[in-house]
Amino acid sequence: MRKQIAEPISGGLILSYKCPSQCRHCMYACSPKWRADWISEADLEKILVQLSNYIEPSPYGSQTVSLNYGLHFTGGEPFLNYELLCQAVDIAEKLNIPSTFVETNSYWCTSDELTREKLELLKKKGLKGIMISVNPFYLEYVPFESTERAIRIGQEVFGNNLMVYQLEYYRRFKEAGIKGRVAFEDYFRLEGRDTFVKNVEFFITGRAAYALKGTFGESFPRYRASHFFSQPCRPSFLRSWHNHFDNYGDYVPGYCGGISLGDCRDLDNLLGQGIETEEYPILGFLIDEDIKGLFQFSKDLGYLGSEEGYFSKCHLCMDIRKYLAGGGEFKELKPREFYLHLG
Ligand code: SF4
Ligand code: SF4
Repeated sequence: MRKQIAEPISGGLILSYKCPSQCRHCMYACSPKWRADWISEADLEKILVQLSNYIEPSPYGSQTVSLNYGLHFTGGEPFLNYELLCQAVDIAEKLNIPSTFVETNSYWCTSDELTREKLELLKKKGLKGIMISVNPFYLEYVPFESTERAIRIGQEVFGNNLMVYQLEYYRRFKEAGIKGRVAFEDYFRLEGRDTFVKNVEFFITGRAAYALKGTFGESFPRYRASHFFSQPCRPSFLRSWHNHFDNYGDYVPGYCGGISLGDCRDLDNLLGQGIETEEYPILGFLIDEDIKGLFQFSKDLGYLGSEEGYFSKCHLCMDIRKYLAGGGEFKELKPREFYLHLG
């Protein structure tokens, strides 16, 4: 049966999954260990040309930015390949793609001169804004001084088109007088479980479900698989906003790393034809029967489930998909490398 997917009004272009950090909460399981498979120039052009027909500007206009409008350049860490990032901005600007911004963890902001030079050039090329990542997971890898510099200079260059995610953590780190990098365990201890849970916003999906196990073992409740059967994932799975398009040509729904709805290099065709669910059973189950259907399907294929239980519905989904990806037969579980970098 064919299922239509929504036209993407916003999203992120993943230039590669390579990143100098290996954050415990990374939804896309990025790390330095990924191959440097940067998106090719031909694919960049192909994807951007098609996206330019669908991407919508921020409600405040095409020269402004909002998290769930426009197009952002991301990864992995896009500043690892600054030349490619500049090229992507050039093409997007020529195509009049509105509300463009880049997302970075600021690892590269080691001096004022370098930071200003890179941001000014991107702005000159047509980039509208920047989003700086701040929370205790990034702090393990990026000295807070680099983050502060990125925010200060980012604001000078992009003005109100600077977004800080999460601003509350920037404030808290300043207040606590944080210097350099801080191990997650130390920060977690410093802040305490209750304050941490209240302040940090992250989804227990991707690497988080595995890498946080030790730290969160006693702090967060786990549930049996059946607990999640009544939670629908269709809205986040088949939504029109904030989807991702990766360097392998995968159309990644929402924040569901490791799933491909099809080839975004052939986006017009994919939107026109929809998904043939008999060919992509995992997509079929997630669309028609949510996680319950997928759980049953995986049990039939030998998935034993976790005795400890699951932190979230996405944790359950991730665990099932990790198991199924091991068999190697499901084309929608892409990129395969994602499943190798979860642990
Ligand atoms: S969350 Fe961002 S900075 Fe951290 S590993 Fe993932 S892509 Fe890199
Ligand atoms: S349960 Fe799976 S498909 Fe649904 S939102 Fe979570 S990761 Fe995506």
